Amino acid sequence: MNRYIFIFIPLLPILILSWTICLDPGHGGSDPGATGTYYDEKDANLDVANAARIYMVQVPTITNVGMTRESDVYVSLEDRVNYANSNNFDRFISIHHNAYNATVQGTETYCYTYGSANSFALRDSTHPELVKGQRQLITMFFITLICLLYLVRLLS
Ligand SMILES: [Zn+2]
Repeated sequence: MNRYIFIFIPLLPILILSWTICLDPGHGGSDPGATGTYYDEKDANLDVANAARIYMVQVPTITNVGMTRESDVYVSLEDRVNYANSNNFDRFISIHHNAYNATVQGTETYCYTYGSANSFALRDSTHPELVKGQRQLITMFFITLICLLYLVRLLS
């Protein structure tokens, strides 16, 4: 018994710090989401997801990054959930850019209400970075990032 504990304890940080992430670029194909003069939400969502994936695959503690869509195709909500569940991702990040009028602006970052403390911590650390990134963009859209939802497991 002690032998197993001895082996397990050094592996614990690796197990805890290893994540698999499912990126979900919202909308796509026949569903443009919010539409702008030059840019539709579905395209913005895919661009942000691709950029996030490029970054995430370089993070040693992220062992797998999957995407519910990698091109301009329609994927139903059910298929998105099925993909995430079948690959048993640790986290599900849905990316959207909401449009409204010029009187409202800003970035929203959500996490699942009943998520873990880690979910809230990641939301809180992600949000300032999104705001910084948003300042560098010229866009009429507002960024909404629904992060760390436990849809993967809740909807299964
Ligand atoms: Zn959307």
